Amino acid sequence: MTAMRNQIRTLKGICTDVSSEGKGIVKSGKDICFVDGLFIGEEAEINVLYQRAGVYFGKVSKLIKQSKDRIQPKCKICTSCGGCQYQQISYQAQLEYKTNRVKNALTRIGHIKTKVNPCIGMDNPYNYRNKIQVPFQKDRKGNIVFGFYRENSHEIIPIKECAIEDKRAASILWDVKELLKEMNIPPYQEDTGRGILRYVLIRTSYHFDELMVVLVTSTMNFPGQRNFVDALVKKHPEITTVVENVNPRHTNVILGEKEKVLFGKGFIKDKILDLTFEISAKSFFQVNPVQVEVLYKTALDLIDKDTDKLVLDAYSGVGTIGLIAAKNAKHVISVEINKDAHKNAIENAKKNNVNNIEFYCDDAGKFISSFEGDLDVVIMDPPRNGSDEKFLSVLLNKKPKKIIYISCGPETLARDLEFLSKDYEVTYVQPVDMFPMTAHVETVVSLINKRYSE
Ligand code: SAH
Repeated sequence: MTAMRNQIRTLKGICTDVSSEGKGIVKSGKDICFVDGLFIGEEAEINVLYQRAGVYFGKVSKLIKQSKDRIQPKCKICTSCGGCQYQQISYQAQLEYKTNRVKNALTRIGHIKTKVNPCIGMDNPYNYRNKIQVPFQKDRKGNIVFGFYRENSHEIIPIKECAIEDKRAASILWDVKELLKEMNIPPYQEDTGRGILRYVLIRTSYHFDELMVVLVTSTMNFPGQRNFVDALVKKHPEITTVVENVNPRHTNVILGEKEKVLFGKGFIKDKILDLTFEISAKSFFQVNPVQVEVLYKTALDLIDKDTDKLVLDAYSGVGTIGLIAAKNAKHVISVEINKDAHKNAIENAKKNNVNNIEFYCDDAGKFISSFEGDLDVVIMDPPRNGSDEKFLSVLLNKKPKKIIYISCGPETLARDLEFLSKDYEVTYVQPVDMFPMTAHVETVVSLINKRYSE
């Protein structure tokens, strides 16, 4: 990557579309420029900052014509933190952008003509995140700061509160900072490798009054730890557990291997539909507790309610979808490549007394190619880069009647659907907004084997 941070040229133009990362697209002659915080229909003067793979990247220097959808963002740093690409446009417009992103990907990349339903949004699209992780540092003047990294950097932009995080997090973070100061516990400094506290991770339960604070530190048992935890829990009785996670390495990965429970049970519980899950510091858990139910319900409603079928839940994470699907199935087989998630999935089945499910820790493609027997329904929920030919070609051979594809990347979804469209008909496409204020969009797709649809 050759990224130059100084302005390399200026440009004036109209934004005609948005990229998959939520940047405004401006075309000028043969040149294409991706512009942060510029929206469809807007005209602007642009400082072009760098070029990558033949595309320019820039920032607005003067907004000439404003979109009718532009609103005042709730968060002052949304233009520099890079987390919320869409806070500056109305929620209705965000949903339209997302629906169109899915439509465009399906027609342009996948050549799929099926109708795309309007993206399902949230009643309150703010403060939805149940997990927040913030770095702590000392600024140039030696003051302790916490916040988010400026996009593509490790410089902290201090925050008071984040518009999409759970409301309970902000005052806890603030008091962590005050207690560090009072008790002389230094934050970690990346350049010297000295100091103690690196990150604070907060996980909240939506359905229960439970809240976890994870202190990510550079060494185990930092001096003053007992007093620090006592004081924090006293100020915030809503905290039900505190965990220390030790990450001594000089790395961008937030969590380390070793952990110690400093207060409470070391996990929190939450519910998705009828099932309860235990979530520890490192567990993967969907971050939008309201929309995950909408997403799963949308997907599971597409499966017949009879209980006589064999269901494969591929890319299953901690087993959530498969466990819920098991209620209306003879048997469910789940496959997930990550060992920790696989272990969590087995625990989750035990805790919820679901017995008609088996878990395999393997690559989905490898697993399914050696699987003998007929599959009735395949639920697949791969990461952003989509599935692979190995997995998809076995699906074409095995011919399950129905495939439910849950995707967090419309472009890779479209690519995979085109591959499957040889033998499958796409019958239903429903985008769901799991991440309001950002450019991300999740999509549920139903595919029926053409033997059954014709
Ligand atoms: N279905 C789950 C998780 C989806 S995230 C949920 O709703 O919460 C995608 C999952 O796919 C991750 O857990 C990731 O570890 C897993 N994964 C990635 N590549 C994989 C592969 N090749 N085979 C199986 N699982 C894979």
